[in-house]
Amino acid sequence: MKRVLCGVLICLLLAGCAGERQIRKTVYAMDTVMDLQIWGGDASGAAEEIARMLEETERVWSATREDSFLSALNRGEAEADGERQAVLDEVTALSERTGGAFDPRLHAVISLWGFLTKEYRVPAREELTEALGEKQWNLGAAVKGYAGRKAAEILEARGVDRALLNLGGNVQTFGDKPDGSPWQIGIRNPDGDGYFGVVAVSGTAAVVTSGDYQRYFEQDGVRYHHILDPDTGYPAETGLTSVTVICRDGLTADALSTALYVMGVEKAVEFWRGSADFEAVFLLRDGTVLATEGAVLSGCEFEVIRREE
Ligand code: AMP
Ligand code: MG
Repeated sequence: MKRVLCGVLICLLLAGCAGERQIRKTVYAMDTVMDLQIWGGDASGAAEEIARMLEETERVWSATREDSFLSALNRGEAEADGERQAVLDEVTALSERTGGAFDPRLHAVISLWGFLTKEYRVPAREELTEALGEKQWNLGAAVKGYAGRKAAEILEARGVDRALLNLGGNVQTFGDKPDGSPWQIGIRNPDGDGYFGVVAVSGTAAVVTSGDYQRYFEQDGVRYHHILDPDTGYPAETGLTSVTVICRDGLTADALSTALYVMGVEKAVEFWRGSADFEAVFLLRDGTVLATEGAVLSGCEFEVIRREE
């Protein structure tokens, strides 16, 4: 099914603006629909190359495919080198930077909950303790952001003017709009379609949201979501519904959105005050919205978090 859907929709339009070529392409990869809009330069070549890169990234880093490099690595049948080792080193560094809140070695735990097969179950505490010790790789919290970074590199190399990519909820922008106005990225409402707010970003950036509503199941009236606390193996319960991170780099944005969700607002704000490479928007379970002072948010009421208390 994936293969059939992959690369199915290509629409080629000539945009009004000085004959600038616009490409829109929908790709099914990494278990999700991805939408690519690219303007100017070799937009068509860039769209094709990004589609190939997405397939390749999935082939290498998929945690669900038995034939991926990552699965072979977890079975002890493969070794990383070159770019692959660099990715593992980078996610390890992000794990250390976040005090382990982002943990790329939770595969056995994620698997126990059934989040990989969608055959959900609540594991026993002893099972979780054992699985936490297995330390198998799973880059599910960072791989779409990594793909966003790689896509931005391709867009740069192809000399395109600008692009707006939606990689399954991970948004990657590239370049500036002709009138100089910023890109407007909606942050999804947890209970339905629509958006609760809009973030404005200029130039090349990643806008990535981690939320408890993105994957969950219910058992005996209790909701279990997919963002796990690496200390316990249970879903992180910190009073948050979602965290959106805005950052120049996709991989960092993706890892940090997951990490800040696990930390909860208080620790996350402290972490932000000690960092200089991202901004964030927090949606609390009670509906309160908080935004760090560098995030350009509109469309809702929110409290601004300042650098200095
Ligand atoms: P994201 O949507 O980017 O926040 O990633 C969530 C996905 O990453 C989950 O579906 C799990 O596969 C995996 N995951 C869950 N908890 C963590 C965590 N604390 N650190 C790293 N990966 C996680
Ligand atoms: Mg993430």
